[in-house]
Order: sequence, then structure tokens, then C-alpha cells
Amino acid sequence: MAGNDNNSVTKTPAPQGKATPPKLVPRPKTAADRAARLKKIIHLLDRMYPAPRTPLTHRDAWELLAATILSAQCTDKRVNEVTPGLFRKYPTITDFANANPAELGQDIRSTGFFNNKSKSLIGAARKILADFKGQVPQTMEEMLTIPGAARKTSNVVLGAFYGIPAGVVVDTHVQRLAQRLDLSKQTDPVKIEQDLIKILPKEKWIDFPLQLIFHGRALCVARKPRCAECPIDPICYAKDKNLSG
Ligand code: SF4
Repeated sequence: MAGNDNNSVTKTPAPQGKATPPKLVPRPKTAADRAARLKKIIHLLDRMYPAPRTPLTHRDAWELLAATILSAQCTDKRVNEVTPGLFRKYPTITDFANANPAELGQDIRSTGFFNNKSKSLIGAARKILADFKGQVPQTMEEMLTIPGAARKTSNVVLGAFYGIPAGVVVDTHVQRLAQRLDLSKQTDPVKIEQDLIKILPKEKWIDFPLQLIFHGRALCVARKPRCAECPIDPICYAKDKNLSG
């Protein structure tokens, strides 16, 4: 037995209320071990966050696209405070296409980066009217032609509104948790998405990142994750686990 081996398994249960020390958590050694561990993570997240739904309030695909553009570098809570008044003032996509950029910028000022976001919203509305008959498109290829819609935004709209698993949403929470849970060693969101696409069953492409986002907000927060309360603790060997409880 390699008692001091980082890969060794503890035989003593962790004290109540304390996270399992990472060095005592078994690491998967084979592809089969990795697959089994991922299955467990999926199962635990399904139990913690069943049927996850995007927190961004919206009534149609355009509103979700607009809200997602506004959510860059901003909390969903703040976006949800801004959008009801915004969609009352600009009730249709045509209203956004015809908006005055400076005035729209002021309307969304509290979400930050408002000049860029104003440009993106107007550009997106014009593009959708000009090329997609006023309907938010349903393919990644088309979505990526819309100003302000990179892969993350496109994945949110395609997944959360249309139910189309075109890819995997990677935001800052997914990025952090994918690394902590050793699902990707990459730091670039596009590469993390490729890793997740490779290992996740397609039917989890929409729910799994949402569950990671909820978990990243609830327990696996950036600083001092609440590992002692986390059901994933026994199979998590993140370097930055919080062992102080
Ligand atoms: S909170 Fe995060 S780092 Fe801590 S055990 Fe859970 S998944 Fe691992």
C-alpha cells in the first residue's frame, strides 16, 4: 500500500462536516474509471439540480438572445432587473433595430459595457431582420453570424430556447468547475467546450453546464468553495478544495 501516494484511498471516513482531503481521493486511472466517475458526477448534479432552467427571464428567442448579450460580465439578477423595462420600451426586434445607440446604451447602462452591448443588440436585431426574416436562427453556423453572439451566447439560445444541443455552454463557472472536477485541463473556453463535448453524452449538453453554473454559485464558488457541504466531495480531488470546512 502506498500510504503517502497522492492516488491512495482513505480507509477512514472524513470527519463530519469536513471535506475529504484531496490527496486521499482516488483519481481515476483508466478510461473506464474516468467514465464511471463522470457518470457519478452527472448523477449527483442531477439530484442536486434537477431539470435546470436558465435564470434569464424571457418570453421568446429574441428576448433570450438580448438578455444573454446583456449578461456578459453582469449578473443574471441585474439583467432580469433591466429587461422588463427594456422590452416594454422596445417591444419588438424592429424597435431594437431602429434604436438610437446612445439612448439604448443609457437604458442598459447598469449591465456594464453598455456601449458595446448597445451596438451588439442593434446589430443583432438588424442582422436577424435582414437575413433571418426576423426569427432567431436555429443553427450554430447561422447564430455565429449575428453580432454579439459568440459560441457561449449561441449555445445558451439554441439549448435553452430551442432545446437544440449544438454545443456546451462554457462560462466562468463552467470553466472553473470543469478544471476542479478534472473534466478539462484547458483554460480556453472553446477548448474546454471541445473537451466536454467529447466526454458528455449529447443528452447532457444542455443541462450539465447549467448544473455546473448553479453548483458554481451555490457551493463550488471561486474563493473558498464549500466542500464540506458538497455531495461531490468524495470524488473531487481539486487542488484548491477548501478543507477548512
Ligand atoms: S465544492 Fe467544488 S471543489 Fe469542493 S468538493 Fe465540491 S466540486 Fe470539489
